[in-house]
Amino acid sequence: MKHFETIVLGGGPAGMMATIASAYYGQQTLLIEKNRRLGKKLAGTGGGRCNVTNNGTLDDLIANIPGNGRFLYSVFSQFDNHDIIRFFEEEGVALKVEDHGRVFPKSDKSRTIIEALEKKIKTLGASILTQTEIVAVKKKDDYFHLRSADQEWTCQRLIVTTGGKSYPSTGSTGFGHEIARHFHHHITDLEAAESPILTDFPHKELQGISLDEVTLKLGKREIRHDLLFTHFGLSGPAALRMSSFIKGGERLELDLLPDHSQADLAKLLEANRDKQAKTVFKGLLPERLALFLLKDLADLPIKQIPKADLEQLLTTVKGLQIPVTGKMSLAKSFVTKGGVDLKEINPKTLESKLVPGLHFAGEVMDINAHTGGFNITSALASGWVAGSSISYD
Ligand SMILES: Cc1cc2nc3c(=O)[nH]c(=O)nc-3n(C[C@H](O)[C@H](O)[C@H](O)COP(=O)(O)OP(=O)(O)OC[C@H]3O[C@@H](n4cnc5c(N)ncnc54)[C@H](O)[C@@H]3O)c2cc1C
Repeated sequence: MKHFETIVLGGGPAGMMATIASAYYGQQTLLIEKNRRLGKKLAGTGGGRCNVTNNGTLDDLIANIPGNGRFLYSVFSQFDNHDIIRFFEEEGVALKVEDHGRVFPKSDKSRTIIEALEKKIKTLGASILTQTEIVAVKKKDDYFHLRSADQEWTCQRLIVTTGGKSYPSTGSTGFGHEIARHFHHHITDLEAAESPILTDFPHKELQGISLDEVTLKLGKREIRHDLLFTHFGLSGPAALRMSSFIKGGERLELDLLPDHSQADLAKLLEANRDKQAKTVFKGLLPERLALFLLKDLADLPIKQIPKADLEQLLTTVKGLQIPVTGKMSLAKSFVTKGGVDLKEINPKTLESKLVPGLHFAGEVMDINAHTGGFNITSALASGWVAGSSISYD
């Protein structure tokens, strides 16, 4: 049986950063991950390019963490998105900022980020064990005992960074919740967050069309962001953010050109009355979407289209009606809402208030954020704080 001062369980962004902080502050540290490689879920973010953080202000961060963002004030006062950017730049990773403050490696490759984290762990002398699934955790006397199918480890400090329950194929199957329950922690209700929306709409015709800065509306709620039509419905930030208000049976309204009023568009059509409708609309919308909306009017000059049809067309452009049938399940949603109850975690150290030496970081906690780098920021920052707090208590 091997002993370590600190064991970090789960090699996602939270676990990798917790390992780095723990080793940096002199703890003899082991990171255990069941997959063959670290950061499987992280590798798939940002379309495989790794949306490593967001360069917004502290207020932006909190506003984009609808699930208990305020709990993270203390965490961000110790390590925030700018520290994350500095960390990677000091490790020689060139970063770039894209729309909506999203930060990516300039290489556009997730491996750049994961390799930098892995290299830092090794440089600081911490150990990594992959392909090792922990199946049981107990505390005897002052030591945590972790057991896999054929080995056992002990440690004084345990940092649980096993993630939520979304995309279980990446390794996050909710084992951390079981550990927390074993130690009498409460787990708040687990629900899907940032879920793609299922619609009753001509999916095949629109599949793959992505729209920048449209406005998705549901009753009085309006979300302006990018949107993607998929083979089942809607994805992209506007849909993912709207998903928390979706039950199924609603009707979404999509303003495809929120910067133009209907009257402005009518004037624009009038000014281009001799041109073919498809020529004018292709200048405003992606071609496939323009043709889908125009149908058999596409080849007509604007001046030959009856006024009522033009008005109807513009009404559709300003408020495309999309019937909703539901949303993706927790397993197919990007993020898990709910987790270890924050009332039982010290916000300064992320140590359990119930069990000394037990820490939590990342999505295993009852924290959920919007995509765009906010979950990853939460995971990396909370990982750093859980890892570094160890040396102080
Ligand atoms: C497709 C997709 C796209 C996303 N895009 C974005 C985005 O653009 N921006 C954003 O902010 N967020 C995004 N997210 C969410 C983000 O990736 C997660 O919030 C983040 O990875 C959580 O980090 P974590 O370290 O807490 O957990 P995870 O990354 O889930 O890591 C947990 C690790 O623990 C390991 N583990 C679990 N149980 C055990 C065990 N018993 N033994 C050993 N190891 C174990 C798992 O194998 C896993 O590697 C996306 C998620 C998905 C699925």
